[in-house]
Amino acid sequence: MNDDMRPIAVIGAGFSGTMTARHLLDRVGGRRILLCERGPTFARGAAYSTDDPVHLLNVRAENMSAFSAEPNHFAAWLEGLGDIPPRHVHRTPVGTFVSRVLYGRYLTSLVQEPLSTRDGAARFRIVPDEVVRLEKRPAGGYILHLACGRTHEIAGAVLALGNLAERADETPSRLVRDPWSARFTEGLEPGRPVVIVGTGLTMVDIALSLSASGFPGPVLAISRRGLVPGAHVPAGPWKLAQFDPLAEAPLSRMLHAMRRDVRAAAEAGAPWQSVIDAMRPVTSAAWQRLSVSEQARFLRHLRPWWDVHRHRMAPPVDSRFRQLVAEGYLTAAAGRIAAMDVLEDGVAIDWQPRGTGRTERLAAQRVILATGSPPAASCGDPLLTSLEEAGLIRSDPHGLGIEADGAFQAIGRNGAPSEALWAVGPIVRGSLWECSAVPDIRRDAERVADSIGARLASPS
Ligand SMILES: Cc1cc2nc3c(=O)[nH]c(=O)nc-3n(C[C@H](O)[C@H](O)[C@H](O)COP(=O)(O)OP(=O)(O)OC[C@H]3O[C@@H](n4cnc5c(N)ncnc54)[C@H](O)[C@@H]3O)c2cc1C
Repeated sequence: MNDDMRPIAVIGAGFSGTMTARHLLDRVGGRRILLCERGPTFARGAAYSTDDPVHLLNVRAENMSAFSAEPNHFAAWLEGLGDIPPRHVHRTPVGTFVSRVLYGRYLTSLVQEPLSTRDGAARFRIVPDEVVRLEKRPAGGYILHLACGRTHEIAGAVLALGNLAERADETPSRLVRDPWSARFTEGLEPGRPVVIVGTGLTMVDIALSLSASGFPGPVLAISRRGLVPGAHVPAGPWKLAQFDPLAEAPLSRMLHAMRRDVRAAAEAGAPWQSVIDAMRPVTSAAWQRLSVSEQARFLRHLRPWWDVHRHRMAPPVDSRFRQLVAEGYLTAAAGRIAAMDVLEDGVAIDWQPRGTGRTERLAAQRVILATGSPPAASCGDPLLTSLEEAGLIRSDPHGLGIEADGAFQAIGRNGAPSEALWAVGPIVRGSLWECSAVPDIRRDAERVADSIGARLASPS
């Protein structure tokens, strides 16, 4: 094959990979784009593969367009659907919140669209397989190895591997490591508790699914602080007055300034949500200005607080969650799990409720881990392992994912950007932090495509 026309591979077809592939079509001349996905569906990824309508988007539909230049794109698609069952669309005073099932359908249409044009059908290739290795060619580019044994010569690749997860549990087991597997509701007996480790948005999803499946409870959710996410409320725009996220300042001073802004907003009748929303456009830049040790302090002390303020529940989810708590179906507790023993018929847990100094024993019939992505180094992903061994990527300093520079180039073992290897989406959150939700990824997908287009235009 003419080396100049080798395709670009996008590895992972969740939202990040799908949108990057779409933008690349317009930026790489006549080259083909290979969109590789190991899962059964394209475009939906972990977040939008659910078939449970109780799972709603946690961002208003008004802000979920896949294209930053067309803010009404999703809203127009919704309108075009005509009659939609009410459980999929919730119009609230805060905005419209739709089911993730419906959003998944929207994303599927975004993969189908380019295939319906002549140029798209010729250049947009869907590759339904797992990429297990990228082999660097001495003359530039890579040989991409698929799990089935086939290979492709490519000019470059984008890693859009998303929210790293433990491999899916094959059967509904006593200890569920993959919280996005719907199978955790199967085979439960009434009366014996289910324990969820983690009290964030994933815990809320799990609790709602358990209740909708008919499991009568009880459910106990445990995390170190027992903090649960806040909810969206009507929140007008707020202009940061006291707090400059881009100022060179230690984290503690930034926190005080932010609290002053929250107080000022409250005096003006605006909720804390307005202040958090005002920070969003500059959060990533602020993160990148912190030193590695300040970032580590943030992760150690502030992250649980940040997460529950930043990632909020849709109002219908919030009211259902409160109802489950009020009915005693669900308890969210602060504590530390000291030991967990997986037995034939359940899981024995020793845990220490926060501030009590005592250890309690609990006999759960199932434990579901909802503590977030495992560190890149420990998730056993064959592609990441091979790239790391080849020195083409390295973990970010906090082990949240892999390191990338401001142009989304993956950083290799030697600290330099790896040739023709890019990364986008939650996999680079250690470097960019605010890069894991649709409003951020849609912008980043365009930027990474721009960066690749510019690189191909001047290969030197
Ligand atoms: C449960 C949940 C709910 C969320 N809800 C919202 C929301 O309401 N609003 C919002 O803005 N954001 C939400 N998010 C944030 C979410 O991270 C982003 O919206 C977005 O879906 C991330 O997309 P992604 O493509 O980066 O990752 P993913 O969706 O994780 O996709 C990555 C894909 O890569 C594939 N893959 C990985 N390795 C390989 C390989 N070697 N070869 C081939 N394929 C591979 C995986 O199978 C997967 O399909 C949610 C996240 C989760 C987990």
